[in-house]
Amino acid sequence: MKNVSRRGFLGVGAASAAAFAGMGLAGCAPKQAERVPSTDGGAWSWETAPEAIADIASVEEADVVVIGAGMAGMSAACSAAEKGAKVVLLEKTGAAQFRGIDYGAIGGSLQLEAGIDLRDRKEDVLQEVLRWGDHRGDYRVVKAWVDNSAEALDWAGGVLASHGVEIALMPIEMQVIPDAWYEHFATDAFQIVPTEELIAEGSEAGYEPPFAIGWAKAFTAYASELGVDARFNCEVKQLVKSEEGAVTGVVYSGETGFIQVNAESVVLATGGYGADEEMLDAFVPHHAEDIHNITTPAHNTGDGIRMGAWAGGAIDPAPHCPMYFDEGVEGLEHMPSIPLTRQPWLYLNDMGERFCNEDMPYAYVCRAHNAQPRHMKWVVWDSKWEVEGPAMGMVVCKDFRSPLHDPEQIQQFIDEGKILSANTIDELLAKMDGLNVERAKETIAHYNELCEAGDDTDFGKRKQCLNTISELPFYGVHAGTTLLVTMGGLQINDSQQVIDGSGMPIEGLWAAGNCSGSFFFGDYPITISGASHGRACTGGRRAGQFAADRAMGV
Ligand SMILES: Cc1cc2nc3c(=O)[nH]c(=O)nc-3n(C[C@H](O)[C@H](O)[C@H](O)COP(=O)(O)OP(=O)(O)OC[C@H]3O[C@@H](n4cnc5c(N)ncnc54)[C@H](O)[C@@H]3O)c2cc1C
Repeated sequence: MKNVSRRGFLGVGAASAAAFAGMGLAGCAPKQAERVPSTDGGAWSWETAPEAIADIASVEEADVVVIGAGMAGMSAACSAAEKGAKVVLLEKTGAAQFRGIDYGAIGGSLQLEAGIDLRDRKEDVLQEVLRWGDHRGDYRVVKAWVDNSAEALDWAGGVLASHGVEIALMPIEMQVIPDAWYEHFATDAFQIVPTEELIAEGSEAGYEPPFAIGWAKAFTAYASELGVDARFNCEVKQLVKSEEGAVTGVVYSGETGFIQVNAESVVLATGGYGADEEMLDAFVPHHAEDIHNITTPAHNTGDGIRMGAWAGGAIDPAPHCPMYFDEGVEGLEHMPSIPLTRQPWLYLNDMGERFCNEDMPYAYVCRAHNAQPRHMKWVVWDSKWEVEGPAMGMVVCKDFRSPLHDPEQIQQFIDEGKILSANTIDELLAKMDGLNVERAKETIAHYNELCEAGDDTDFGKRKQCLNTISELPFYGVHAGTTLLVTMGGLQINDSQQVIDGSGMPIEGLWAAGNCSGSFFFGDYPITISGASHGRACTGGRRAGQFAADRAMGV
């Protein structure tokens, strides 16, 4: 952990708002802006705005500036342009960024065609989001997603389909475990059909999973057709404010130096901060001990959250919601999301004991193993996995039917010893450094008895998940938590406007996706398929529309 002051990061918006009331950032000082070190004066860097960048090479005009070309930003830029706004989209990497496999909505057209109709369960979904977040989310903000997600995801699916990217509904049996003790909501609006062409292109370009490149291709093309002025390798450094406190533009770093783009409306869509240690320290308690590896993209450094706070926006109070996956396998710097090691097999802590019902939503599995010694667990299974794994009926990214299941990769990991294997239990356990082997053997023997009886009287695991450890070869991994993304950010109202510490909107400033807050807290509700993408797409689309309306005087 870094040696930084923990002084009051609650209500940072108010502090920065006071510091910047009435100041136009671009004109207040002749010094080049620098990120204020967190150790400077004991403040977090987002509490103290840097001095405005003065050496502006050129000034341009637009109606709407969107910062970030991920799911939220692309949705915002295209939606604003559809309304006729002149849009500049600024992205700091070289391409649009997309990931993942599911995209959440309620009442989408493909869902309805397939007979999946959750429209009369909107309140249940909404309450499920709030419950996962200890009711710290804003009902009105979550409701805005629930009510608008079908339109937004149908629109996005239409953009994909009309640009040659095939989509299909994820079957309900890949979204819902009927007899699980926790309810799943079949909210996936569609998935991309992973063609060989997309996989080849996406692998080359580094998308994860590779076929997520379909979004980048379709939306980059659509933005271009709409006349969106998309500029890549352009990192936005600061927002510009009027004397009245409205956001009136941005300053970005381009090939020719610092360029200011003035606009009536600015949409922040810069994603989360999983690659920013200072923000993790402030907002994700125990992250250093709990997180085994990070698949957060390197570009998620919290830029928009910082810039929004400097402009007076309030940040969700800590702790924030991390998206935790139970896929951090020791020995693999980065674990592709293969379902095999994430099944509810037998889990042991270092003492050689079971410690939870292994069949929990994976965010809860992470919380349970994070509470164990070394914040990790041993996962143990045997050669029956090809039959027993699918029979457990896990869904979405744990589903063996998903494109994430890759038998060749599994074999490669076994051959490389990344997945431990042995022909006797003794031999397997001997490979598990730090495990109490004698106690583990007793636990396995007892667990096998429970499995044979078909009744987990110890932890209440579903009968289908009770599989003996009995047939060689035996397998195991040491697994911990992976951080995918962070999901807390700038507080917003139900029109996606960034609000200050007293709940007042900052004129001209919207936020969407993972740089926005007021939605997810606690843990990511994986019982609601694609909730994170659903929020990003729906929020981005609405932010873009509101931003265009303001710019065009509607
Ligand atoms: C491996 C992986 C798999 C996932 N799978 C799923 C899934 O199946 N379902 C699901 O719902 N969610 C999934 N997620 C989470 C989901 O991808 C994110 O929640 C979502 O992408 C957030 O979108 P966003 O637009 O807010 O942010 P991002 O996608 O992070 O986009 C932000 C963009 O802003 C740019 N940017 C940042 N700072 C600046 C700056 N200063 N100037 C200009 N540009 C900037 C970034 O480069 C980036 O392109 C997954 C995440 C990961 C890591």
